[in-house]
Amino acid sequence: MAFELPELTYPYDSLAPYMSAETLEFHHDKHHKAYVDNGNKLLDGSGLEGKSLEDVVRGSHGTNPGLFNNAGQHYNHIHFWNWMKPEGGGKTLPGKLEAAINADIGSFDEFRGKFIEAGMTQFGSGWCWLAVKGGKLEIMKTPNGENPLVHGATPILGCDVWEHSYYIDYRNRRPDYLAAFVDHLINWEYVEQMHEQATA
Ligand code: ZN
Repeated sequence: MAFELPELTYPYDSLAPYMSAETLEFHHDKHHKAYVDNGNKLLDGSGLEGKSLEDVVRGSHGTNPGLFNNAGQHYNHIHFWNWMKPEGGGKTLPGKLEAAINADIGSFDEFRGKFIEAGMTQFGSGWCWLAVKGGKLEIMKTPNGENPLVHGATPILGCDVWEHSYYIDYRNRRPDYLAAFVDHLINWEYVEQMHEQATA
């Protein structure tokens, strides 16, 4: 199945001031589009053409780095756009998700601290995650286009810490970007949806 660039489900200027229209225009229209276009070229003839995106990511890991990087980033960005919404973030979470965070991570505040810390300490480009592994929630971080799918886990929330995600709005202040993401951007309903699917 060929990769396709999804449309954003909210206007480009609707995440401001936490993420600007300019950032979304570059990040979605240029960076994500490049992963889609390059991914499609590399998918052709890879033997993984008929597979789901998740299976392309897992199937190319360690064997086809070019395809893996682009397919991984395509997967990561499809969800990243949905992990945000205008007037999102904050600590009011759907009940079942909140209960799981309290049980597995300790508390919302602990989640917030560890998630931001994972993003801050990911050296260079990469992602920080909240993922389900063995039925339990875990904070993870990965370099470049990698994600929890290749570590036996299912991501339910991720934040892009590549500079292309924050440099226009935050310059080098990655911690401020991560705090704004958690406090003002997260679409907790989408996280809850992925949590339900990952634990079903
Ligand atoms: Zn990105």
